[in-house]
Amino acid sequence: MHHSHIDGLGAFAAEAVPGRRKIGEIRGESISVADARIRATRSERIMIVELSDKRAIDFSRSADPMRYTNHSCRPNARLCIRQGRVEFYALRDIASGEEVTVDYGQTHHEGRLACRCGATGCRGAL
Ligand SMILES: [Zn+2]
Repeated sequence: MHHSHIDGLGAFAAEAVPGRRKIGEIRGESISVADARIRATRSERIMIVELSDKRAIDFSRSADPMRYTNHSCRPNARLCIRQGRVEFYALRDIASGEEVTVDYGQTHHEGRLACRCGATGCRGAL
């Protein structure tokens, strides 16, 4: 885990990952979406993924470095949510030491947070 040029800490590939290969997964605390919304209003650094309209997972207390994965508007990985786990898959070949990024899509920030990913075609906000 290193400091990211995008935001705070980031997740970095420990070794080269071929495209479409699973990079890793994170598990967190299973909570209701109602609780997730409340937690999101209390904390700037939220690490919550909504699995459905009822259940969400909060990774804030997870020790897995993948939880530091930053958003990019041109990501090199994607999230796949499966049976309460969040899995990361490479969208293309990722070099050893490269920062792993995903597109967060809809977030609790609802467009109020400036995006600093620096990618060509950056949407400018989360
Ligand atoms: Zn961006």
